[in-house]
Amino acid sequence: MTHKKVAMEHDKKIALVAHDNKKHDLVEWAKFNRVLLAHHKIYATGTTGTILEKELGFTVHKLQSGPLGGDLQIGAKITEGSIDFLIFFWDPLEPQPHDPDVKALLRMAVVWNIPIACNRASADFMISSPLMDGEYDRLVPDYEDIRSRKIVATE
Ligand code: PGA
Repeated sequence: MTHKKVAMEHDKKIALVAHDNKKHDLVEWAKFNRVLLAHHKIYATGTTGTILEKELGFTVHKLQSGPLGGDLQIGAKITEGSIDFLIFFWDPLEPQPHDPDVKALLRMAVVWNIPIACNRASADFMISSPLMDGEYDRLVPDYEDIRSRKIVATE
């Protein structure tokens, strides 16, 4: 499969999402990294975004609450190329009403090869990477074989 290069600019579009039992963790992480996050464009699911905006003091682009479709909105933005980084502290110990959406979001992140961190340690390594402060060419499979596959839809 061939790949296309998608440029990630210096100021990145970062999505932050946390399930309820993980919101405290994400807020602490974001406050600790406030200066590093400040020059990026931050997106978040509704409740996570409301808390982050209050705690960080800068604008967070808020989508729907996760259980109401916010995870899917972020997934859609990944497919459009308008999110290039995902920090998603999902809860491994509680079933969620929107578990299929959680799986869909994680799947889209892998399909489009965007960096994802699902816990604090990974998020620490990602935010402190030298790649965060430069431009980066993300390789995305061109998926042409999927788009142009032959389907016989009529008899
Ligand atoms: P929330 O959604 O930020 O609106 O709580 C997060 C989620 O459960 O996916």
